Amino acid sequence: MIDICEVGPRDGLQNESKHVPTTIKVELINNLIDAGIRNIEAVSFVNPKVVPQMVDAEEVLSQLPKRCDIRYGGLVLSRSGFARALETDVDYLHVVTTTSDSFNLKNAKRTVEKATEELTGVVKEGIDAGKGVMGVLGTAFGCPFEGEVPVKRVLEVAETFIKSGCTEITLADTTGMANPKQVESVVASFKKAFGDDLTLGLHFHNTRGLGLANILAGYSAGVKRFDSSIAGLGGCPFAPKAVGNVCTEDMVNMFHGMDVPTNTELEKLVKTAKWLEENMGRSLDGMLMKAGIA
Ligand code: ZN
Repeated sequence: MIDICEVGPRDGLQNESKHVPTTIKVELINNLIDAGIRNIEAVSFVNPKVVPQMVDAEEVLSQLPKRCDIRYGGLVLSRSGFARALETDVDYLHVVTTTSDSFNLKNAKRTVEKATEELTGVVKEGIDAGKGVMGVLGTAFGCPFEGEVPVKRVLEVAETFIKSGCTEITLADTTGMANPKQVESVVASFKKAFGDDLTLGLHFHNTRGLGLANILAGYSAGVKRFDSSIAGLGGCPFAPKAVGNVCTEDMVNMFHGMDVPTNTELEKLVKTAKWLEENMGRSLDGMLMKAGIA
């Protein structure tokens, strides 16, 4: 059994240049729930001037069905985002920093050390406020500006988050640089450092075509939680040919073929992917939606 964290409504949509109305976002999440998805990164509490697509985070959350078997997550990158998140009934804060100074300076205008300092406070206060908190470490498998990010560095940042109370960590391959051998080795180092009790999630982008290969490497190394995006939505609005997250229905198809349950209905996922493609008005990256279920 694997646990899917669907990130299409956040990581996917935030990269769409076309404005997506709140009603479509809510309908997308409802369709995903109907297909069996129970863990959804629904919104991001990021500055709307920087990411206009996420401006309606509060509105989206207020329109979602409240069910105790469904977990809604919201991305938090700073204290101001945290303050917004606390005003909502989002279940989990996905507190994010990258692990490379060059990337973090460009992305969040501060070093990793400065970011972690602020965010560990956010983690503690989030837990005190009754929220679940997951730490997300970006560029964990490489940085487009610095190249290799040492595993030691990734583990150090993870440790800071864990010491603040995070019981879940997701390692994110922000720009699709990971390869299966590296995934195996990073997961092994992580498990050696923190044991098996901590929930470890993996987040891959299919930028260089290695998304599913990396998922499989993670699964073989003992990981049970994977982020993915319906229809492979994502990419970058400034790079028309960029591709997005690992595609949810393609990943589910792989696991079902391997007799690994996902608790989702593949037909409904494909239907949702096609519905989304119609609404986005462009061809999306998912492959199963084109090839059909065998
Ligand atoms: Zn991502």
